Amino acid sequence: MIHVLKHVESITKHRDRTLLEVGVATALHELLKPLTVNVYTVQQAGTRTQLHRLTHAGADGVRYFDTDFERTDEVISVDRRADFQTCIAEERLVASPAPDSAHTTYCLPVAYDGKVAGLIEMVTDATLDDAQIDLTQSFITLYRNYLSLLDYSERDSLTGLLNRRTFDENLGKILASLRASAADHAALPGAERRDGATADAPHWLAVIDADHFKRINDKHGHLYGDEVLILLANLMRESFRNDDKLFRFGGEEFVAVLKPASFDDAHRVLERFRQSVEHYHFPQVGQVTISIGYAPLRAGDTASAVLGAADDAMYYAKAHGRNQVRAYPTLVAQGAIAPRRFTDEPSAL
Ligand code: GH3
Ligand code: MG
Ligand code: MG
Repeated sequence: MIHVLKHVESITKHRDRTLLEVGVATALHELLKPLTVNVYTVQQAGTRTQLHRLTHAGADGVRYFDTDFERTDEVISVDRRADFQTCIAEERLVASPAPDSAHTTYCLPVAYDGKVAGLIEMVTDATLDDAQIDLTQSFITLYRNYLSLLDYSERDSLTGLLNRRTFDENLGKILASLRASAADHAALPGAERRDGATADAPHWLAVIDADHFKRINDKHGHLYGDEVLILLANLMRESFRNDDKLFRFGGEEFVAVLKPASFDDAHRVLERFRQSVEHYHFPQVGQVTISIGYAPLRAGDTASAVLGAADDAMYYAKAHGRNQVRAYPTLVAQGAIAPRRFTDEPSAL
C-alpha cells in the first residue's frame, strides 16, 4: 500500500506532462512487473487514427520519445493493431493472449472529455488478476485526470477549478463593467451613490476556507489532504450554478464569484454549500467543515478591497466557531467588524 502511495505521490506531484507519463509507466512497471509498458497518445491524422508512443518502461529502462520530432518507428497506425482499434472504439480494456500463451498484451484506454486521448499497452508473461487490473485502472484514472487538467491552463491542476491568474482577469472584467454602468447612473439626476446599494442583486464574492486543514494533513498525510481539496471542489461544482465562477485561490482556500443575486439568495446558496460539505463523508478523513465570508461587488470597488471584505467576514467566522457563513455587510451593520474603504477614488463618486 505504501509502495503504491509513493508512486501516486510521485505522479501527483508533477504538473508536467512528460514527468507524468514517465511516472505512470514507471509505476505500472515496478508494481506489476510486466515485460513492457508503453504509453501512447492517440491522434487523428486526417481520417486515420495514429498512436504516438510517448514513454516506454521495460527491462531496458525507461525511455521518453519526444513527439516534436518525427520518429516514424514510434508511430503506429491503428489499422495495424486490431486490439488497439477495439480498445479505442469501445473504450475498454482488451486482453490478447499470444497464440502460444507465452505472454498477454493488455491495451487500456485513457479517455476523457468524451474521447480516447491515450492508450496504455502492457505485455505480461502471466495473466493479470482482478486486483492487478484494478490497480492498473486506478493508475490510468489518475493519469487521465491529471492529463485532462493539464489541458486547461486556466485551471488549477489539482481541483480543475479556475486558477488565481484567471481570477484576476475575471474580476477585472466584472469590475470594469460595473464601473461602466455606474457611470451611466451618475449621468442621471438623483443617481444613488455606490455605497447606497444601488442594485438589489449585485455580484457576490465569497471566500471559502477549509477549517483546521493543517490537522488533516498532519493526521492523514498530504495525499489525503489533496484528495479532500479535490472532493471539496467537486462539491462546489455541484452546489453552485454553471455561470458562477469557482476558483481555487491557493492552498485550502477557494473563491466563488456569484452572478447577480439578492442577499437572501446568495446566503442560501452559500449556506447550502456549507451544509453539503459538513454532511459529506470524506474517505479516511471523515468530516471536513468550511468557513465562508462574502461581500457584494459594487461599482468602484477594487478587487483587493472586495477580497479583503470577504476575508474579514471569513476570519470572523473562523474566530466565532468556524463551520459558518458570514456576510460582510451584516457584520459591519452590527458593528462586529470595522468597515473598509472600498475605493481608491472616493472623489470620483
Ligand atoms: P483554519 O481553520 O484556521 O483555516 O486552520 P487551517 O489549519 O486550515 O489553516 P492554516 O492556514 O494554519 O493551514 C493551512 C494548511 O493547508 C497548511 C498547508 O500545509 C495546507 N495546504 C496548503 N495547500 C495545500 C495543498 O495543496 N495540499 C495539501 N494537502 N495541503 C495544503
Ligand atoms: Mg484553513
Ligand atoms: Mg487558509
